Amino acid sequence: MSSPSSTVVVGGGIAGIACARALADRGSAVRVLDRGRRLGGRMGGRTLHGRPVDLGASYLTVAEGSPFAPVVAGWVDRGLARPWTDTFAVAGPDGIERTTSGPLRYGTPGGLRSLVTDLAGGLDVQLERAVTRVGGDGGPTVDGDPAAAVVLAVPDPQAARLLDPGSAIAGRLRPAAWQPTLAVALGFAGRRWPADLHGAFVHDSPAVEWIADDGDRRGDGAPVLVAHSTPALAAEHLDDPERAVPAVVAAVRAVLGLDGEPEWTHVHRWSFAKPTAPREEPFAVADGIGLCGDGWSAPSKVESAWRSGDALGTALADRPS
Ligand SMILES: Cc1cc2nc3c(=O)[nH]c(=O)nc-3n(C[C@H](O)[C@H](O)[C@H](O)COP(=O)(O)OP(=O)(O)OC[C@H]3O[C@@H](n4cnc5c(N)ncnc54)[C@H](O)[C@@H]3O)c2cc1C
Repeated sequence: MSSPSSTVVVGGGIAGIACARALADRGSAVRVLDRGRRLGGRMGGRTLHGRPVDLGASYLTVAEGSPFAPVVAGWVDRGLARPWTDTFAVAGPDGIERTTSGPLRYGTPGGLRSLVTDLAGGLDVQLERAVTRVGGDGGPTVDGDPAAAVVLAVPDPQAARLLDPGSAIAGRLRPAAWQPTLAVALGFAGRRWPADLHGAFVHDSPAVEWIADDGDRRGDGAPVLVAHSTPALAAEHLDDPERAVPAVVAAVRAVLGLDGEPEWTHVHRWSFAKPTAPREEPFAVADGIGLCGDGWSAPSKVESAWRSGDALGTALADRPS
């Protein structure tokens, strides 16, 4: 049970943890509830064949001068994050065409989730706690327990399930505008793709839109790729993601010109991978209930989710009591 003097954050992805961190650092009592067995949400992955594999976000970026920059610099200093690359391949369904350069991407030796766990150090976190109802009538509540404020740091379709559809805050949600993705990890006998691949943006493939070299981004050189499906392929196979794996494997082999089949594969379903229309505003609050995450502070990405959560936590801590 939460004390009415504490704020409850629902969702222990990077937005929820950034929000809780901002509140706790300003002396506000806060508790984080997440339904998962571990923190991290869409920065999650799994240990596969003895090593962590990122199955959600592939990397993170940070804009110059961003308030997120010192946080990332701290992770790099402590060896939790590592500069990975600024250059990826661009490919069509039948092969690599060219390279493209952009911002520096950071990877992690221990998986991106490890950064969220680090940020949560010292916070009051309860895992395996699925919240079913968040109310605003006569003050904010979480499953009937009163709270000083409630933050929903979850994708809009998941927030919509918790709120009274007629409430002011539910009116700020855009649950229909979220797309699914399937992430497929492929383990090979050896590294048979170009050493400087890093990753490939794939256009015009019905099956795959991105391939990451997981051994390269992690720094251990393991012969493991992670492919992200197109939203259309994911939508077709949400009930049985395993059935999409042959199409993803065939597409990856054609793009990279690989002769052999992978020795193993693993598929992960992200029913709400990304918002198609993230809002520019950093967050929303009404009746003591706040919304944050990568559906805010567009464009949707790890940095935006952190910025949204940090901004909401700061605003809640600074509001007059
Ligand atoms: C396949 C994929 C690839 C991506 N690639 C990149 C990339 O390369 N670079 C990048 O910057 N971004 C990328 N992203 C986006 C990035 O992962 C997200 O922007 C960011 O992780 C969102 O964080 P969040 O805290 O807003 O939400 P989430 O990480 O989704 O956190 C929400 C949390 O809420 C919990 N939750 C949900 N409902 C409940 C409930 N009822 N009760 C309790 N807990 C609940 C969930 O368990 C979860 O932990 C990618 C995302 C996906 C899915």
